[in-house]
Amino acid sequence: MQRNTQQRDAIRKVLQGANRPLSAQELLEAAQRHIPDLGLATIYRTLSSLCSEGYLAPLELPGSAIRYEVANSKERCHFLCRTCNRMLKLPASLDSFPVRTPKGFLIERRELTLFGQCADCRKPALRPAKMRKPSARKPAARKVRSRTRN
Ligand SMILES: [Zn+2]
Repeated sequence: MQRNTQQRDAIRKVLQGANRPLSAQELLEAAQRHIPDLGLATIYRTLSSLCSEGYLAPLELPGSAIRYEVANSKERCHFLCRTCNRMLKLPASLDSFPVRTPKGFLIERRELTLFGQCADCRKPALRPAKMRKPSARKPAARKVRSRTRN
């Protein structure tokens, strides 16, 4: 198999397996399990070519690395966890978010990103209080002063 084809296949495999948008860095780390000497420049080159072929769609958020996902919908809904920085795909229809555009405008694609904390990151907070691990810091022992009155 040609090396170029191998790289493209590795990236495709990783994105399909992840089922969520991945940054170039996340893709590199996962694709290196298939091709250990894969570099970031190759990842960017391959991503650029897969995007121009329409196989991948970039997802850009201000102040965040571009993420990529398989382009299979004109409606995209995602959730970005503010704690672990993972982006997840949400099965949502954007019909429930009506937007009015000025007369004569044409909407070509619709994207919605929700921000918050994923279930994994919320786990400690979701656990009932009695199940929580005691904090590492022990409460300061109270000094019992015996007061003796003379
Ligand atoms: Zn998270």
